[in-house]
Amino acid sequence: MSSDSNKADEAPVKGHTISEKTADSKIDDESIPFHCKSCGLHETVHYFGQQPAFVYGVVYTEPTYIMKDPFQPPVGKWKSKPEYFIALGAHCIRCNDVVCKDNGCHFFFKHTYCIPCVKIVISTFPTDIQLKIKKQLSTGQ
Ligand SMILES: [Zn+2]
Ligand SMILES: [Zn+2]
Repeated sequence: MSSDSNKADEAPVKGHTISEKTADSKIDDESIPFHCKSCGLHETVHYFGQQPAFVYGVVYTEPTYIMKDPFQPPVGKWKSKPEYFIALGAHCIRCNDVVCKDNGCHFFFKHTYCIPCVKIVISTFPTDIQLKIKKQLSTGQ
């Protein structure tokens, strides 16, 4: 199902033309739809997985939706740096719904949980984690 010839939108970036991709790497801008089941956040991300090629030395513990930071200019792979991407969200380990990293949408303990699921499984977590969850839920977001 993957057509990796998706042309990225040539959005007008002021003062900066889209630089041509280096041919020797697999730094491809994929266009993957991300939709938070909880808050409805809708974004197009560039990567879904655990080891984004455009982030040097980062491995996620679970498949994660990664978006390149639109406010950062493109950087060459020789100076890849973590500040230049955003981890938007992941799948709930329990129900597999996609949730974003907002406190009102997910809780992370070893895995990502959506809030409805974390409320169901909260009693299986260690006490200090339960307190953390309750605190997070009580602050709204
Ligand atoms: Zn959300
Ligand atoms: Zn869930």
